Amino acid sequence: MRIKVCSFTKNFLFHQQQLQSNSIKRFFGTNPLLRMATQVEVKFTQIFINNEFVDSVNGKKFPTINPSTGEQICLVAEGDSADINKAVAAAKEAFKLGSEWRTMDASARGKLLNKLADLIERDADYLAKLETLDNGKPYKLSLGDVNGAAAHLRYHAGWADKVQGKTVPMDGDHFSFTRVEPFGVCGQIIPWNFPLEMFVWKIAPALCCGNTVVLKPAEQTPLTALYACSLIKEAGFPAGVVNVVPGYGPTAGAPLVTHPDVAKIAFTGSTEVGKIILQSAGKDSIKKVSLELGGKSPLVVMNDADIDLAVNIAHEACMFNQGQCCCAATRTFVQESIYDEFVQKSRELALKRTVGDPFNDSTAQGPQIDDDQFKKILSLIEDGEKEGAKLECGGKAVGNKGYFIQPTVFSNVKDNMKIAVEEIFGPVQQILKFKTLDEVIERSNDTTYGLAAGIITKDMDTALMYTQGVRAGTVWVNTFLSLGPQMPFGGYKMSGVGREGGEDGIKEYYQVKSVVVKIPKKNA
Ligand code: ADP
Repeated sequence: MRIKVCSFTKNFLFHQQQLQSNSIKRFFGTNPLLRMATQVEVKFTQIFINNEFVDSVNGKKFPTINPSTGEQICLVAEGDSADINKAVAAAKEAFKLGSEWRTMDASARGKLLNKLADLIERDADYLAKLETLDNGKPYKLSLGDVNGAAAHLRYHAGWADKVQGKTVPMDGDHFSFTRVEPFGVCGQIIPWNFPLEMFVWKIAPALCCGNTVVLKPAEQTPLTALYACSLIKEAGFPAGVVNVVPGYGPTAGAPLVTHPDVAKIAFTGSTEVGKIILQSAGKDSIKKVSLELGGKSPLVVMNDADIDLAVNIAHEACMFNQGQCCCAATRTFVQESIYDEFVQKSRELALKRTVGDPFNDSTAQGPQIDDDQFKKILSLIEDGEKEGAKLECGGKAVGNKGYFIQPTVFSNVKDNMKIAVEEIFGPVQQILKFKTLDEVIERSNDTTYGLAAGIITKDMDTALMYTQGVRAGTVWVNTFLSLGPQMPFGGYKMSGVGREGGEDGIKEYYQVKSVVVKIPKKNA
């Protein structure tokens, strides 16, 4: 199914033929992305099972919305338990002993992952445009995500034939060794903030270890995952190895979690849903579960820091991706003696942040993902004002179309205010004041979350003491949001269980079988 997204396209092509290249430049400025925005074509909108695109069993469809306009992009096949059953059956069949996938050399699995990375890179521009259309993030960010997805695949491609067991010196006359083996069918559920990257973060380690997959993308952003399915087929993965069922959480996600033939569940999303998933994955069966959940990350700025650098890091740490990162630093703790200057500079920087058309290459911030998030963020901003935090700038919607919000900075924030406790998932920075390192370690940890934390200081002793004291899965020093496929990422406390990335991430996708062989005694 091919859908032209914008009726402006025809007019645009007409104009393009009429205009000389110089006048095209004048018409659109030097920004080719504005032209591109009109030409995104949606190519795949159906469920992907057994390497085929199919309609949902009950024929239902749901709309995916362009967050820049609030308008429908297209309808997508809506999966529910019947489609999940079909997809799990396909994944189970692909995992059968003797199947093409099970008998494939591990190095060949690595080649397939590399091939998929090649295809993603080949179509990077298209994938980035599709992501920007469906998610609203600036095109440059989408392109970064696409390249990040390819890098993630290549890292795991390299691991495919290096995931190995050990020989073990067990007591007695035994030849003892471990085999590492895939779980089988993995159910994977992803959020909307990094749709393609999360898709790859989930499938890459699973496939690297030889599992098969049924994945549910977020209902807000199904399009890049579905396009990536066409690349999975083109790369040559056997049918049934990856299956993707778009749909809603309670109707498509929940039956995937409880399906008796699914051996492992991997989920990224809210802590609220993570708790439900953890319980239901242990209700009628015992599944291996990994969860990457919410956060309320602290970023500490010591008074020896280069203040301009610190202001910039803290700004991006909070505002990046429209503030829609689970590890965003939404509690900026600034040491007393530099607090006022830091607040003033943060305000100036936030006022300069360009909000608007995500296809415009000067845009730093696009729309929030949907109306629900948009309203929730504005309501939390109101709570912040009511509770007595000082609104330094922002706080309002931008324009009257789509879900744009002004970059917002609060000062005089107290630890118990709602904006300092709840995950906001929007471009809203809270700046808090502290006196000593001990105090800020304690306050950093005074949250149910523990996904990430950061510190900016020139003193490495201070940095290491903070790193040791803070309860978080990742600690960044003099940087923030620096992620790579080689490093494990995941949460402490209610930010989750398990890791993604690095060797630790791969361990989430295999189980260990111990094999003990009796060695007959010589002359026995
Ligand atoms: P957010 O609040 O950021 O949208 P959610 O945790 O609600 O995050 O959603 C993340 C993913 O979890 C989405 O793919 C969503 O459809 C799915 N989901 C939501 N509720 C459930 C559920 N009860 N069971 C399984 N998946 C769910």
